[in-house]
Amino acid sequence: MSRYFARRLETLAPYTPGEQPKIDGLIKLNTNENPYEPCRAVRDAGFNENLKCYPDPECGVLVEAIQSYCQLPSGTVMVGNGSDELLGFAFMAYGGPDKKMIFPQISYGFYPVFAQLFQTDCRRIPLKNDLTIDPTDYKNVEGTIIIANPNAPTGIALSQLEMESIIQGNPDQMVIVDEAYVDFGGESCIPLIGKYDNLLVIQTFSKSRSLAGCRVGFAVSNKEVIGDLNRLKYSFNPYNLDRLAIEIATEAILDVEYFEQTRQKIIATRDWFSLEMTKRGFEVPRSKANFIFAKPPGMDGQSYFRQLRKRSILVRHFDQPTIEEYVRITIGSRQDMDKLLEATDDILDAAEKGEPYEDQ
Ligand code: PMP
Repeated sequence: MSRYFARRLETLAPYTPGEQPKIDGLIKLNTNENPYEPCRAVRDAGFNENLKCYPDPECGVLVEAIQSYCQLPSGTVMVGNGSDELLGFAFMAYGGPDKKMIFPQISYGFYPVFAQLFQTDCRRIPLKNDLTIDPTDYKNVEGTIIIANPNAPTGIALSQLEMESIIQGNPDQMVIVDEAYVDFGGESCIPLIGKYDNLLVIQTFSKSRSLAGCRVGFAVSNKEVIGDLNRLKYSFNPYNLDRLAIEIATEAILDVEYFEQTRQKIIATRDWFSLEMTKRGFEVPRSKANFIFAKPPGMDGQSYFRQLRKRSILVRHFDQPTIEEYVRITIGSRQDMDKLLEATDDILDAAEKGEPYEDQ
């Protein structure tokens, strides 16, 4: 058990799932599974007959594929039902009534929700005026730090060196790095895992591996920390990934070529699109994610959002001080972004002519 794990969970006795051995001809009557195949439509949809059995609770094939892809030793990776589940385990492990979580004032909206769910005080540190995180604000703080890097919804990333200064500056606190968007140009902290015992990195298959509908994320840390998180998983939902998710995600991590192709396409579209928006007078912080954060010229974020919606284009607006002037735009296909630019030109034209932009 790592020294960061919440003491109130020390005596937790996790559930032990029934054995799932792979032995040919075995009469398996130990986990109350159904001997018959799933219904015809399920089989016709191409799902294999193994669905009648529980999945491997350790998700061994997938965990090994991730360890091998990241060149990590065994025992340093666990997978979750989306990275949200792993973030939930992390809040459970390092939060609680006597603990504090520290994260940027503007960041992933789920952090304060988890904090409330696990009755954890939080300290939210404001961003600088240019929406960047100042790593020196996170030196020697009291509480578990969680930083999305690149941050959401700004898309701005800290370098590995800056992240390391935070990890190194808080040897007695856990530092959780949420790298949901790292594959679009950020620098991962995974190479620092062997160097610091207080680092937990969480990534997802939802963004750069096009599998948001499959719900797979993974956590990387030292064996003790992964052991603690697994303890929580086995006390909550031992079979947290289904057979399909394990199979699909394993295929996805093995296909490095497709991953490279699609992420490079998104990076290229993002950089071109950011420039186009800047030319039109938008303020666009440098994004390392698969979205940009953009402040429209001469118009508030809410109006721009509504005008796009009227033209059947949906982006995200956050009604929150500091960022209400902005909208977050996901990088879609080149055609999607062309349509968005066309609509934007139309909106800006109308605004210049003084046409009212509220929808009545
Ligand atoms: N972290 C951040 C910063 C995110 O934006 C998201 C996606 N909403 C997640 C984690 C969760 O992603 P998932 O559960 O799909 O892996």
